[in-house]
Amino acid sequence: MKVKVPKVIKIGGIRVRIFYEDKLLDNHSKYGQCRFPEGEIVIQERDMSNDTKSQTLCHEITHWLDKVYNNYQFDENTTDAIGQGLYALLVDMGIEFDWSNISEVDK
Ligand SMILES: [Zn+2]
Repeated sequence: MKVKVPKVIKIGGIRVRIFYEDKLLDNHSKYGQCRFPEGEIVIQERDMSNDTKSQTLCHEITHWLDKVYNNYQFDENTTDAIGQGLYALLVDMGIEFDWSNISEVDK
């Protein structure tokens, strides 16, 4: 089942915008980034498969869940593990992310 990635999700009542930023990898050596003050999840688009973007999104959502519900206690390894577990669960449930709603913020 394809699920469209929304431009805005709510985590604990906080609106979090999801968009591409194509220089993310060049500028930060990252595929994804959480910006807590701005309420953003930014994903690298260029040279990224849908699977890699979806795994990255699960990772960044895990950071947000940790921040909002868990007092930001996870280290990066824990975030990676839980994010991978979340992604594997979604795949096992037959859920596939459709990225067609997402664009660069200024497009
Ligand atoms: Zn991370």
